[in-house]
Amino acid sequence: MPELPEVEHVRRTMRPVLKDVRVSGVTIIRPDYVRTPAAELRQLVGRRVRAVRRHGKNIFCIFDDDHTLVIHLGMTGGVFCVGRDQPPRAHTHVIFRLASGRQLHWRDPRRFGGLWFYPTFQAAWRGQVEGKLGVDALCLAPRHLEAWAKSRGRLKAALLAQDVVAGLGNIYVDESLWLSRLHPRQMLCRLSQRQIAGLVRNIHRILRRSIRLGGTTVRDYRNVWRRRGRFAAHLAVYGRAGKPCRRCGAALRSDRTAGRTTVFCPGCQLRH
Ligand SMILES: [Zn+2]
Repeated sequence: MPELPEVEHVRRTMRPVLKDVRVSGVTIIRPDYVRTPAAELRQLVGRRVRAVRRHGKNIFCIFDDDHTLVIHLGMTGGVFCVGRDQPPRAHTHVIFRLASGRQLHWRDPRRFGGLWFYPTFQAAWRGQVEGKLGVDALCLAPRHLEAWAKSRGRLKAALLAQDVVAGLGNIYVDESLWLSRLHPRQMLCRLSQRQIAGLVRNIHRILRRSIRLGGTTVRDYRNVWRRRGRFAAHLAVYGRAGKPCRRCGAALRSDRTAGRTTVFCPGCQLRH
């Protein structure tokens, strides 16, 4: 599933394609897969994109009159930029034709994603972020975790909870914990302020590095030009169970923590 770096990379590659460009047509192939009525989505025709923003795993395309389209990529979804005459691939549900001659195809084979259309950016924020999502992981500060440490338990569960930190998933949580030498089932309340600060620094470091490399492609993820992300070669633990730890040489172990397959090093990720 795309996490923050993949979604941010999609946003960055979408922006130059969309910014200040007018939508000249919308074709909705599967109205039942779009989370907003088709008639509303067609209102985009004639409007120009003013900005493309992101919070967590949501992309916000903000139009010149403040109408806002929210895109969620779900498990295997994607937005792809193609030329004028290129036909849609299977599982393309909506086609946006742009005045520049390009098209933007929204695909979602497993249908966990969606498109939502709002009359204003504020309404989009209220509908998708307020009361649902915590701070964006790139803006995470130690105080966000310290405030949370008293109420809920373990580290991996805390970092995966989107209402605490928005944008992290299984890959980047496991990588951040390894880099911080922290056990996934570590009780958050037993960490020192220094350890929490170090963890937050490492989360930012890993996310920024992955964004620079275009994200992680394990199976499906592609950016708007259908290119793979290059961060997979740099993964220290995710997908490496049984292989030697790159720091201490111990065999990496896999178990289930917070309902997710978790890979960690029993040699150097300790509980405190
Ligand atoms: Zn190790």
